[in-house]
Amino acid sequence: MDNEEEKLSPADEAMVDFDSVNNTYALLSLQVRRLLKSEFGKHLHKDSIMSCLHNFKNELMWGYPSMACPHAFANKKHEDTCQCKGTGFLPRSQVKDGKRVATNGSSS
Ligand SMILES: [Zn+2]
Repeated sequence: MDNEEEKLSPADEAMVDFDSVNNTYALLSLQVRRLLKSEFGKHLHKDSIMSCLHNFKNELMWGYPSMACPHAFANKKHEDTCQCKGTGFLPRSQVKDGKRVATNGSSS
């Protein structure tokens, strides 16, 4: 088997990265909660920190590659102007019940 066959697809590599960040998030979340309960966490702004963590988790979850871009079936090249932003995949935020849904166009 040569190196090309051993490589993950870009989407699979992205999933590994998303999972890795998600695992790091889980550890961070656990440690932050412990710190907030500790004597020395009294000066931290719990609501602000928890809100940031919540928003981060939501953004991460919505960004997971979820479905091949419909253009793949039309034999079109994926570009930055495509809904997939050139990745060939739509994120969870653009997919519901296995189908693409309209978005408001926000990207950050
Ligand atoms: Zn596309």
